[in-house]
Amino acid sequence: MEKNKVILLLSGGIDSTTLLAKLKEENKEVLAISYFYDQKHAIELEFAKENAEKYSVIEHKTIQLDSQLFSSSALVNSNKQLSTYKDGEKPKGQENAYVPYRNLVFLSMALSLAESYRINDIYVAFNNDDCVNFWDCTSAFLSQLNTISEQSKTEVHAPLINLTKKEVVQLAKKLDVDLNKTISCYQPSNDRECGRCLSCVVKKEAL
Ligand SMILES: [Zn+2]
Repeated sequence: MEKNKVILLLSGGIDSTTLLAKLKEENKEVLAISYFYDQKHAIELEFAKENAEKYSVIEHKTIQLDSQLFSSSALVNSNKQLSTYKDGEKPKGQENAYVPYRNLVFLSMALSLAESYRINDIYVAFNNDDCVNFWDCTSAFLSQLNTISEQSKTEVHAPLINLTKKEVVQLAKKLDVDLNKTISCYQPSNDRECGRCLSCVVKKEAL
């Protein structure tokens, strides 16, 4: 087994870029995976590519998915408007940016890849603020997934899961992550963030 090699789900946002910097600081060799699924914020993949190069990952793969899978999500479906919020305002439950079973799909593919590459550790950058609105970012979800991945002696790690977005930003600054080379907005126009989607209001509060 490749002891020092890990797989990281890299989206191009603050969380996964910060986790990339952390893993590199721990001298891990990182195989990064990004996903294209016709997301409205597909520009995030350009930031993922840039950071994958900057942090010298051993390989950066982009996996293409059929967007039909996720058509109920406003993050994908162009006929659906993403919910927007005022500063400080946040939804309490799941909101329409939720992508059905996306994280299970992403992580299942990462597990396939891990087995093919004989890698035992997968990293994903869930944070504590994500848990509030998305059930598939919670520690309960993670531990259930790890019950399955035990079969291949692989573990999915989410080391930022107890950090709020604000604490992730603090860690990013400590690790000297260039936040201008990340994007979190769900509906940017080119690389300009909208300032009103859930991701933008959480980010603004954290900054
Ligand atoms: Zn936004």
